[in-house]
Amino acid sequence: MKLYNQLTKKVEDFNPKNKDEVKIYSCGPTVYSYPHIGNFASYIYWDFLVRALMFDGYKIKRVINLTDVGHLVSDADEGEDKLEKGAKRENKTVWEIADFYIEDFIKSYHTLNLVEPYKFARATNYIEEEESLVDTLTEKGYTYETADGIYYDTAKFPTYANFAKLDLENLKAGARVDFSSEKRNVSDFAVWKYVKPGENHTMQWNYQNKAGYPGWHLECSAIIHKELGETIDIHTGGIDHIPIHHTNEIAQSEAAYEKQMSYFWLHCDFIKIDGQKVSKSLGNVYSLQDLANRGFSPMDFKLWVLQGHYKGDRNFTFDDLAAAKKRRLNWRNRIAITYQKDDIKDNKEAMAEISNAINDNLNSAAAFSVIDNSELSMSDWQKIDELFGLNLINDAPNINENIKAIIAARKEAKENKDYTKSDEIRTKLEEQNIAIKDTPDGQIWQYLN
Ligand code: AMP
Ligand code: ZN
Repeated sequence: MKLYNQLTKKVEDFNPKNKDEVKIYSCGPTVYSYPHIGNFASYIYWDFLVRALMFDGYKIKRVINLTDVGHLVSDADEGEDKLEKGAKRENKTVWEIADFYIEDFIKSYHTLNLVEPYKFARATNYIEEEESLVDTLTEKGYTYETADGIYYDTAKFPTYANFAKLDLENLKAGARVDFSSEKRNVSDFAVWKYVKPGENHTMQWNYQNKAGYPGWHLECSAIIHKELGETIDIHTGGIDHIPIHHTNEIAQSEAAYEKQMSYFWLHCDFIKIDGQKVSKSLGNVYSLQDLANRGFSPMDFKLWVLQGHYKGDRNFTFDDLAAAKKRRLNWRNRIAITYQKDDIKDNKEAMAEISNAINDNLNSAAAFSVIDNSELSMSDWQKIDELFGLNLINDAPNINENIKAIIAARKEAKENKDYTKSDEIRTKLEEQNIAIKDTPDGQIWQYLN
């Protein structure tokens, strides 16, 4: 398997130390609002990574975190906590907001048929581990205290700028004027925030005799260490995570545990919508429900996502989504053919080509064109379904005896040249989402939708 590794900025061979326990961590959602389709695109890409590795015979141990505290409106320790913002907006408690959007996220996760991780790790369930990580960083001299929290001194971690190729001098020059004067370096970040006097921050814990809460970056380092150990095989996220969140995770974990945090780092580029970034002001923050309202299933969207690559410009349009829906219908109808033809052989060449494509840095688009252009057996479709998780077979069930009898009756009517009856039967079948096509080899049935 070849993958693009952000650590080396190269496509590299992925050779995990233990094929029976490939450790993967994915930065998960901040649970304060409904995710949009851009967020889900990222989870679909990483689901495909997991499925492709499973296809190759690896066993996966994957953790996805759920951020329910400490993620401020700006990724760089400024502004309101997103959960507090959600609570105000909906007139609920932060805990209610977190519970609600966690449940909603996991429900969508299942509707998208994404592989269940070993654990969904909720940040507030790891407060002890987070505090202990701050202890370790402090003992090793990496932190300092300011009026509003405990900060990580990035100057103490000499390779800080490497991961994102940060130009720290430039950052300093461009720093905002309200940049906290107590911060020693512009890139320093809070590992622990204190609740300010008068601040209404519901989630708070007593640490070092002060009320406070963990920083967003801290949770990932603490959860990974607790659940997966000092070094993992693959860490995933969106491209936005490179300069701050993942850079800070590396600084924390590698300073505290003195081990490489992850061998591979994978980031997806952001999808655009109609050529624009996903943004509230443009009114294009579509949810899965918005797609459903326009007649598209989560699987149609998943197919659209996998027609492209995690690295690369993706532009979402409803026309392209309609094309993806059509492609999926076509594949389901080819499964329908396998029920009606018993001479389709396993296509080893096509499956080998698909395997080569996915092992080439997850080239699902190339694999899809092999699918389009090859005759495939039921057993091939089963493998394809496991590989992409598109629910093709589930959504292409064989017809029951009753429908088979109706189809036979239509054949008879046609043979008897009773076209009124045969047309009537056609309409009746269409009501059950079945279309009848007359081909040189006789009539076949297909799904209408
Ligand atoms: P958040 O809940 O805001 O932390 O975002 C969840 C995930 O969605 C993160 O991994 C982001 O990098 C990712 N993400 C946000 N917007 C997009 C987008 N337009 N396209 C792809 N991924 C995105
Ligand atoms: Zn993270």
